[in-house]
Amino acid sequence: MVIKPAVLKLGGSVITNKREPMTPNMPEIERLSREIARAKVSQLILIHGGGSYGHPLAEQYALKEGYKEQTQLVGFSKTHQAMVALNKLVVDALIRQNMAAVGLQPSSLVVTSSGRIRSIEEQPLRNMLEMGFLPVFYGDAVLDSDLGFTILSGDQLAAFLAVQLGASKIILGADVDGLYTSDPKSDPSARLIRRATLSDLRNMEHEIEKARVTDVTGGMAGKMLELMPAVGKKISALIVNAATPNNIYKALKGERVIGTTIVKG
Ligand code: ADP
Repeated sequence: MVIKPAVLKLGGSVITNKREPMTPNMPEIERLSREIARAKVSQLILIHGGGSYGHPLAEQYALKEGYKEQTQLVGFSKTHQAMVALNKLVVDALIRQNMAAVGLQPSSLVVTSSGRIRSIEEQPLRNMLEMGFLPVFYGDAVLDSDLGFTILSGDQLAAFLAVQLGASKIILGADVDGLYTSDPKSDPSARLIRRATLSDLRNMEHEIEKARVTDVTGGMAGKMLELMPAVGKKISALIVNAATPNNIYKALKGERVIGTTIVKG
């Protein structure tokens, strides 16, 4: 059987309330689950972010920078466990829509080196897709061969899996309409970029790098950097506002939707 899944990443900003620690946005999780079920994509990998579950703990224990002292170990446990709890909410909601969703732990399947994915145990994932399951990954604390451990973002995982499995497309569901000329939350004159090529992104790389440094969670700039290798392999990427009803449904169906399409060009 040919494996050619679509990869959908749902941002932590959409499925949690970012201002309140450990608070899910259940109405959004339920609505997005209904949209995913309705779209009936034959092969789909879902990845979700951490939002108010993973981020505060990961920051408190400085997990991304790697092992410095033993007290961080319990921080790793707490961060991972928070993500397991959020993953359960997402997977339960999908199962309520009669989808054969199964949560997969990046911490058990992935090893990074200096923060980049080095290896991933692919066979369970491939077999699941062949059988018609919906695997549901998340951003997680993972083991790192140089740093001891680190934080693996859902964005990096989404792009990596898309390349590794030759995905049909990557959809990133964000809490803004797509890539703008600057952060639309702080700049009212920011304009939505409807279509960008890889060379457009390369030209913006300096700007992107600057923005990435100021946003520890990666933000939109981090997403662009992660997407570039996948787009280079001719996997088109679409960033849409997942908080707008029906956007994720339309994106999964390949229907026209407001957002940013990134193509190799
Ligand atoms: P998530 O946690 O949902 O994966 P992030 O919060 O990390 O997403 O990143 C998305 C955010 O990036 C947006 O809410 C927006 O405020 C910010 N952002 C910064 N620069 C831009 C830009 N040029 N275009 C769009 N969003 C941007």
